[in-house]
Amino acid sequence: MLTLTSPQVVQETALRWKKDGKKIAFVPTMGALHDGHLKLVEAAKALGNKVIVSIFVNPLQFGPTEDLKKYPRPIESDSAKLEKLEIDVLFHPSEKEFYPEHFSTRVNVSKLTDALCGNFRPGHFEGVATVCLKLFQITQADFAIFGEKDFQQLRVLQQLASDLNLPLAVVPHPILRDADGLALSSRNAYLSSEQREKALKLSAAGRAAMKRYFEYPRSTVKDVLSTAAAVLEVPGIRIEYLELASENNLTPATHDTLISDISFPRLFMAAWVGETRLIDNQPLDRRSDAMDAPENIA
Ligand code: AMP
Repeated sequence: MLTLTSPQVVQETALRWKKDGKKIAFVPTMGALHDGHLKLVEAAKALGNKVIVSIFVNPLQFGPTEDLKKYPRPIESDSAKLEKLEIDVLFHPSEKEFYPEHFSTRVNVSKLTDALCGNFRPGHFEGVATVCLKLFQITQADFAIFGEKDFQQLRVLQQLASDLNLPLAVVPHPILRDADGLALSSRNAYLSSEQREKALKLSAAGRAAMKRYFEYPRSTVKDVLSTAAAVLEVPGIRIEYLELASENNLTPATHDTLISDISFPRLFMAAWVGETRLIDNQPLDRRSDAMDAPENIA
């Protein structure tokens, strides 16, 4: 595994590979790697002949009051994990190398960013779209793998790739969960053991919503949301949003809509446990059986 910090050197390397007919699979991350990230890397290895993983805590996607400074950066252990997986390049630029002085471009994907996290994190998806478009250019990726953990992010990048005719496939990967249901996240490291117990309510809310819909296929959005909200009603949890939307447009459905009338219905939530903001989501159609599939449990 080569560790490179220069965007230009990574791009030159990638262009050489392309000339040799290689397919490049790319996994962008902010580091503090857990098994969820590593599953994405394994998926990348299956898709491409060459694999690039980036570790870059992107300042553009953090709001002024968010956790940019305290975000974990255990680069040595991250690097050892990637070395073990035998990837080709770890791209780990400094902030200055990545965003030189006078960097002025911003990428804005509209509509899909209007709801859910977009409502509460102004500028976040602009930061995500900007960093990803730049990373796609640098890595010359044929495949970019994104976790469904950040479902809105995944959809925004699919839209970006389609709108701008990017020659790459944005490939989704299911959420990896701990055996108790908690979606793996670098931010789980902020949780005390007591808070971690509370955090389990997010995945429990998703399971309860799914069960409600499966048992009562004529459930409305209101029925399912109140089932999920009841699970989250615990001291120490503050719900930021809890919505049901189609995966296609991410527009929250009105409460009297029948779930069965929504194509690809998915429950989306963000909640604060102490100072930690957690997100989770749960598909409500039959594919959600995959939630309990052994390969999606760490
Ligand atoms: P991050 O380092 O948090 O920016 O995440 C990098 C990539 O890993 C994103 O595509 C995330 O959606 C994905 N990811 C993070 N946690 C998980 C998880 N528990 N399961 C699947 N993918 C994940």
